[in-house]
Amino acid sequence: MKIQTARGTQVFYGQPAYIYEHILTTFQNLSQNFGFAPMATPIFESSAVFSRGLGESSDIVSKEMYSFNDRNGDSFTLRPEGTAGIARAYAADGLSQHSPFKVYYHGPMFRYERPQKGRYRQFHQLGVENIGITSYFSDLEVIDLGYQFLGDLGLAKNCVLSINSIGDEESRRQFKEKFVSYLKNYESELSEDSQKRLKINPLRIFDSKSEGDQKILEGAPRLTDSLNESSREFRDHIFNGLEKLGIPYQSASGLVRGLDYYSHEVFEFITKDLGAQGTVLAGGRYDHLVEQLGGPKASGVGFAAGIERLSLLLEDQFKEAHLDFMVIPVHQDLEMDAFALTEDLRKSGFKLFSHFSGNLSKRMKKANSQNLKAAILLGPDEFKQGKCQLKVFATGEQSEVSLKDLKVTLSKLIK
Ligand code: ATP
Ligand code: MG
Repeated sequence: MKIQTARGTQVFYGQPAYIYEHILTTFQNLSQNFGFAPMATPIFESSAVFSRGLGESSDIVSKEMYSFNDRNGDSFTLRPEGTAGIARAYAADGLSQHSPFKVYYHGPMFRYERPQKGRYRQFHQLGVENIGITSYFSDLEVIDLGYQFLGDLGLAKNCVLSINSIGDEESRRQFKEKFVSYLKNYESELSEDSQKRLKINPLRIFDSKSEGDQKILEGAPRLTDSLNESSREFRDHIFNGLEKLGIPYQSASGLVRGLDYYSHEVFEFITKDLGAQGTVLAGGRYDHLVEQLGGPKASGVGFAAGIERLSLLLEDQFKEAHLDFMVIPVHQDLEMDAFALTEDLRKSGFKLFSHFSGNLSKRMKKANSQNLKAAILLGPDEFKQGKCQLKVFATGEQSEVSLKDLKVTLSKLIK
């Protein structure tokens, strides 16, 4: 009996796996250039890390978590995102002594969602966090890193940076009063979810995907109008900074982001090419997360990007990194010599394909299908005389090359 993958999970092989690696190395290189250090947290954590960290009213905690009791009866959750685990480690594992605390991470995340293109139950994120610094420069640095990352992937032009200021707590408190009293007039027309949100966490209503709710929101008071002076200043610094850096942005007054812990600037890089799954990279500043998890008062700023969504955008243009050469023994007796020559060339930095079965013509076909530059053929008599045949695929030419000149000849071919 064949067994299928679980709903909303996928296997990566071939082009998608190459794209995944390409996205990751691009991200790792850039993050390190920005002074972010690699970090990995457990894939499952005590459920409280997320329920306390992300807030009970968030979509993730209220309906998307993969939680289970282990054999000891303790409740654990497969991580639905990366920030809470990093904040937990910062709070409880003695990491708060590091300043600046700038880290990047990547790996699988789990959410019980309705699977569709760009939305899975196991998906993969990469992200950065800078915890312990309140300066708006750390927000600017994080946004700039996100923008350059998309640029390095060739995707900056497909994405628009949407940014909103949700202000500090005082601003949000003032806003909430006005907002709730406006929404009370429409309470019965709101979607069921939003009626609940109105009681628990009204700001979350901005996140609603219901068209009816969005209509009602059109006439609602705007957060921007309730910002106190320091929140307005913070926002102005960010906007001025973005202009100085030449990062195009749109101010989006309805953007609040799905989690409870955000404050001041929240942002998303959105593409039109993925329909409702258009947000590829998103983040913002968060205030109480570290404290919620038992740590010191420390705010942070970070982003996370969905690797599958980035992959979908790269599908059409991506070319696999390919190999250049293959050594083929003309006779079985030279199999070990061909193998040793392959290893020797690899040690010198050449990229070689290898395949250990089939006769000469089968292996030539294989070499051709790999888009290699050339095949190096080892025949018994020539090999004894320190020579080989080089078949260059682009021209179809085959010529004799002495083994001691081989590396120089190959170098010329890959120039
Ligand atoms: P959405 O509104 O699309 O559900 P979100 O607000 O839940 O997104 P975040 O929690 O901010 O998403 O996660 C950051 C990024 O991770 C998203 O912008 C997206 O690129 C990616 N992402 C989130 N959920 C999924 C998923 N189920 N499948 C694939 N990628 C996802
Ligand atoms: Mg979601």
